Amino acid sequence: MEISRRSFLLGSAALLAVGACSGDDEPTCDDTEDCAGSGPPAPPIEVPTPAAPATPLPGPPFGLGVASGDPDDESVVLWTRLLGAEGDHEVAWEVLDATDHVVAAGLVTATAADGHSVHVVADGLSQDAWYSYRFHTAGHTSPVGRARVLPTRDGEALRFAFASCQDWRDGHWSAHEHLAAEELDLVVWLGDYIYEGGDGDRQVRDHGAPACQSLDDYRARYALYKAHPHLQAAHAARPWLVVWDDHEVVNDFAGGADEIADRQAAAYKAWWEHMPVRMPAPTGPALDINRVVRFGEIASFVMIDGRQFRSDQACGGGIAPACDEVADPSRTMLGTDQEAWVARALSTSETAWNVIANQTILAPSEIVGLVNLDQWDGYPAARQRLYDAIRSSDAGTVVITGDVHASAVGNLVADDGTHLGVELVGTSISSTFPADLADVFELAATAAGAEMADAHHRGYVVCEVTKDAFRADYRIVESVAAASSPISTSSSWVIEDGAGVQPL
Ligand code: FE
Ligand code: CA
Repeated sequence: MEISRRSFLLGSAALLAVGACSGDDEPTCDDTEDCAGSGPPAPPIEVPTPAAPATPLPGPPFGLGVASGDPDDESVVLWTRLLGAEGDHEVAWEVLDATDHVVAAGLVTATAADGHSVHVVADGLSQDAWYSYRFHTAGHTSPVGRARVLPTRDGEALRFAFASCQDWRDGHWSAHEHLAAEELDLVVWLGDYIYEGGDGDRQVRDHGAPACQSLDDYRARYALYKAHPHLQAAHAARPWLVVWDDHEVVNDFAGGADEIADRQAAAYKAWWEHMPVRMPAPTGPALDINRVVRFGEIASFVMIDGRQFRSDQACGGGIAPACDEVADPSRTMLGTDQEAWVARALSTSETAWNVIANQTILAPSEIVGLVNLDQWDGYPAARQRLYDAIRSSDAGTVVITGDVHASAVGNLVADDGTHLGVELVGTSISSTFPADLADVFELAATAAGAEMADAHHRGYVVCEVTKDAFRADYRIVESVAAASSPISTSSSWVIEDGAGVQPL
């Protein structure tokens, strides 16, 4: 076997790097900063050239943009999906560091079976560092995205935003234009990425299609939404952590019913094809999306799924008086396995904060004997079990919630008056809150103990988190009736561990 000079040099570089960093009496190399420059510079990495497709593309394939997501301390998922492709397509990907040097690259095959989506885990990256990335196929190059890898240590403050509910029909996406421009490490998406419905109740634009039933229907709906430049910009600027709510399948979805299994499988497959997520593709009406993403010693994002495993809404659902069924202790929001998983995730977290990425409102919000049976109010025994899990954790707890298309801030308080944490409910990007109920919601939430409630505005929430304090700024757009609208901060809040939320 002939050893080329190049591979010999590579081998030497690897040995040097190991020698410099792993000696017992040397400082260990768990921080790449310490090791930079200790060996010869790494050879340049070449971006491979993808094979020409058997069937030429009818046009530019990158019209849905790029995205990154689910980072850990050495890797991040890179996503795109080819439009107009038939058969298999080779796609090249590359990751560049802050000095525009290629630090990782490879080839991946986009298949028709997976809707020509691409999910690459770009690995071997440096912790707490930013990168850019792009894709190439058949002579076309994608837009450039930015991604980051997370710190394992304290690091600087974490800045993230959370958002949900972008009904295409209800309003324009000025909020995404502003979200894209925020300086953020991460975006957490709490669900209702698409709305499955047809047309008929539009306020600014149509879906142009009936309600989604098949995989092709859901794919087309994601393609409609993801073609929007503001949404693409919000994705391209930093990684997202994504969970779903009901409208990714159907309104007020409660998983598991046989009659909806085909639709659920189609919806889950299309969701996976369009999201920058790390889990394998679903092969039927089931996909585990609960996971923990850890940012240094500051925060653990505990991503939960309150749809797939829940008991069906009690008492016929909707907003109604609670019937006896509500109190049944066997009723579940998360399912038995996920409940145990959440309890473990909360109690074993080694970060200052646990941020629970949650779908529907957790805090009790009954008003004049009426409860929203789709929310945790319809699952009080399951809520008590989650409260018990939160109570047994040493970390500060902040629950971030979507679904309701209104903002609210409130403390989570146990029956004996013990402070458990804080719930921050974010409003929608564009989905409507019924105008005739907005005042009622605000009165009801305040009467139930919320420090703030606002059902009149759309937007997102920006959070700045250190080990000692968690700050939240509610960002609202003036209007979703106009394609472009100014943003402002409607209120700001600070949480210190063990204390109630305070206005700033
Ligand atoms: Fe929604
Ligand atoms: Ca929802």
